[in-house]
Order: sequence, then C-alpha cells, then structure tokens
Amino acid sequence: MNIILLGPPGAGKGTQANRLVEERGMVQLSTGDMLRAAVKASTPLGLKAKAVMDRGELVSDEIVSELIDAELTAMDAGTGAIFDGYPRTRAQAERLDELLDKHGRKLDRVIELEVDEDALVDRITGRFTCGNCGAGYHDRYNLPQVEGVCDRCGSTEFKRRPDDTEETVRTRMQEYRAKTAPILPYYEERGIVSRVDGMASIDEVADKIDALLS
Ligand code: ADP
Ligand code: ADP
Ligand code: ZN
Repeated sequence: MNIILLGPPGAGKGTQANRLVEERGMVQLSTGDMLRAAVKASTPLGLKAKAVMDRGELVSDEIVSELIDAELTAMDAGTGAIFDGYPRTRAQAERLDELLDKHGRKLDRVIELEVDEDALVDRITGRFTCGNCGAGYHDRYNLPQVEGVCDRCGSTEFKRRPDDTEETVRTRMQEYRAKTAPILPYYEERGIVSRVDGMASIDEVADKIDALLS
C-alpha cells in the first residue's frame, strides 16, 4: 500500500505516519526529515536547503524528488510507503507519479487532514521531538508519560525545530495554501482522496485512518 498524508504544517502528518510505521510496518518517507538530516550532516544539499527552510519557503522540486527517488530505490518492493510532506507542488505530484511507475508502485489513497488554521500555530510552537528516536510530542496535547523521559526509548534529550516559530509558520501556511492545497484536484479526479477531521484527538484521527486503510 502506498499513501500520501496531506495537510498544512502541524496537521498531524508525522504523528500519524509514525503510528502507521509502528503498527503496519510501513515506511515513512518524510522529505522534511530527509532535508533536516542533510542540514545536520552539512552536505552540499543541506547547506543549500537550510536558508530556504529557515524562512519557511519550499526547496526546489528537483531536490526533494531526487531524495524520494533514492529512498524508493533502497526500499523493499513489498513494503508500503507513507509520503509525508511530499508532494507539495503540482510538479512534485506529477513527478511522484513517474517515480511510482518507475518503481512498480501504485498510489492507493491520499488522506487529507483537515484542520483549523488557528490551531496550527499552537500545535507548531508546542511541538518537540525526542533527540534520540525522533518520537513526536507536544507541550500540552501529547506529553511523555513520565515528564522529561521519552516513552519510546527512555532518552531525556529533546529538541525543537528552528523553523517552528510563529512567524515561520505563517509563511509555511501561505506556501501550503498557494502551492500544496491546489494539488488536491489532481488526485480528486481519480477518486482517491479521503478527508479526515484533523482537529479530533490523535487516537480518533488514527482510528479514522485505520478505517480508511482496512
Ligand atoms: P511540516 O511537518 O511542519 O509540514 P516538514 O518537516 O514537512 O514540515 O518540512 C519542513 C521544511 O522542509 C518545509 O518548510 C520546506 O522548507 C522543506 N520541505 C519539506 N518537504 C518539502 C517538499 N516536498 N518540497 C519543498 N520543500 C520541502
Ligand atoms: P505535521 O507533521 O503535519 O507538521 P505533527 O505530526 O508534527 O504535524 O504534529 C504537530 C504537533 O501537534 C505535534 O507536537 C503533535 O504532537 C501535535 N498533534 C498532532 N496531532 C494532534 C491532534 N490530533 N491533536 C492535538 N495535537 C496533535
Ligand atoms: Zn525517544
């Protein structure tokens, strides 16, 4: 199974993708995570992408599509893919179709997480992750069970993204509205889009997604 999780920054894509990985053994392909890894490793690509990401703008279609191509090449053909944060433009959506074709895969479903924009700033500015395993948390909505200790791996190191500021979130939301939301009709024509209320609790959203994929 190959699915796209679509939604603005903070909609819950990463949270739901993580759960699908744990429960279904699918692989999460997050271009945001790949780019952050490149920035951390100071690769030429990372150095180029960093300033763009810090501003909340989109990096080039070619860069992210190449990252996805490389991941699909490395993946076992039988393992399902969750596209998280990709595609984000019409050109990327068209490129993804070519890449799926090339790798013998077919897109099963596009799940749009619908959220109130007002909630996004709150979600993003409260977001933090485990520095060791990457598990995602929130200052108010999703705290570790024991304060300061990661539920998944026990680490006590946490981190916040430099682009998770109110100002950058506004730019990222504009990018989503201008460039990403307009790709929905591309998939709607094929009848593969499902909408899920992303304002429900994390568990409720998870249940809805499970029902769509069963
Ligand atoms: P969020 O989870 O908050 O939506 P991401 O982690 O997916 O954010 O992306 C962080 C940043 O990385 C984006 O603001 C953008 O600069 C860059 N980025 C990630 N994926 C893409 C993509 N598919 N196309 C262009 N830029 C991307
Ligand atoms: P995205 O990958 O779409 O940018 P995340 O999955 O990182 O979004 O979620 C953003 C923040 O909101 C995280 O801190 C996460 O713990 C929290 N969050 C995710 N889903 C929900 C939800 N349904 N209700 C409340 N908070 C949520
Ligand atoms: Zn952890």
